[in-house]
Amino acid sequence: QVKTQGKNNYQFYSASLSENVAERMELENSLRNALKKEEFFLSYQPKVDIKTNQVIGMEALLRWNHGKLGMISPAKFIPIAEESGLIVPIGEWVLRMACKQNKDWQDAGFPPLRVAVNLSARQFQKKNLVEVISKILAETGLEPRWLEVEVTESILMQNMEFTVSILQQLQAIGIHISIDDFGTGYSSLNYLKRFPINSLKIDQSFVQDIATDPDDAAIVTAVISLAHHMKLKVIAEGVETEGQLEFLRMRNCDDMQGYYFSKPLKAEEFTKLLESSKEIIA
Ligand code: C2E
Ligand code: MG
Ligand code: MG
Ligand code: MG
Repeated sequence: QVKTQGKNNYQFYSASLSENVAERMELENSLRNALKKEEFFLSYQPKVDIKTNQVIGMEALLRWNHGKLGMISPAKFIPIAEESGLIVPIGEWVLRMACKQNKDWQDAGFPPLRVAVNLSARQFQKKNLVEVISKILAETGLEPRWLEVEVTESILMQNMEFTVSILQQLQAIGIHISIDDFGTGYSSLNYLKRFPINSLKIDQSFVQDIATDPDDAAIVTAVISLAHHMKLKVIAEGVETEGQLEFLRMRNCDDMQGYYFSKPLKAEEFTKLLESSKEIIA
């Protein structure tokens, strides 16, 4: 009895395993054509100054509307895009689209904002990242200071000498650099000072329970202090409640991003947000 059950379980397990493999292959195949078929678009999530409550920038987040399957989460398709290398052309499309859209908003007369784009390790492995970004800035006419790149600790830790030199070149052009999901990787504090960076993004997993969990509260407090002593800006990700915001405000966290202020918005919705904040200022 037990033995049979075990066997059945195994068969069930292996069936679902090959289903996963098939699904993955299907996704990878359709990812290959997604750019051509114009199935991607960007959502923009505001970054907000905690003191003034003003929008100071936005993070461009990739969205995939699959022809047959509908919306697919980045958590599902970004890893496939990374492993297959497709993230390189896709990431270039994201950079170009985000820069172009940001320039369009500036040309429409809205106060200039900094748009942040997520970079993946694969894009750093290519030797021409700085040229690619420079070319996109030149083509779109966006000034470099209005572009920010978000990199994770794992990107920083691999091929360190090379990565530092790329980041130095990007910073020399005037592009801002932030460390995404800070605290979830394993970069040593000793290395932190070697990287040319402008801001730290505290990962949302620490922000979630800051009002109730003393350990998370201690970590977030320490990261804010660390950032400020290193003359870096600090932004909290995944802020969802008034309580979290109050905690961050009391500890002088500079900026926030999260559902409390706004979910990621389609370009047209973001335009409406900009229009309504213009009315408030006027
Ligand atoms: P990330 O860069 O850390 O982006 C933040 C994620 O948190 C986004 O998920 C955002 O929608 C979500 N988020 C924002 N505020 C809140 C909140 O208050 N509560 C909660 N629970 N979540 C919040 P999203 O858009 O699903 O993206 C997931 C990840 O996919 C991103 O994490 C990033 O690592 C990756 N990604 C997205 N777009 C790109 C891209 O263009 N290129 C690359 N390489 N990666 C991307
Ligand atoms: Mg990010
Ligand atoms: Mg993050
Ligand atoms: Mg993340």
